[in-house]
Amino acid sequence: MAVDKQDHTWTDRPVCPHCGHVVRDDSEMFEDLEGFDDFDCPQCGLEYRCRRNVVFRYSTRVPEATDA
Ligand SMILES: [Zn+2]
Repeated sequence: MAVDKQDHTWTDRPVCPHCGHVVRDDSEMFEDLEGFDDFDCPQCGLEYRCRRNVVFRYSTRVPEATDA
């Protein structure tokens, strides 16, 4: 079953491009933070390549009076 390719870019979790299986625990998937790594989908058994994209987000707050 083909899944829209748009569903596989910048997703919250790795998504198999063959069957759409979502990897819930990616903690041990990546040894290399650069480039693509090869994985076998636990659902359909087909191989795909996945790269972890890192997004930085920022938090700001007004300093408290006692910080000065
Ligand atoms: Zn799959």
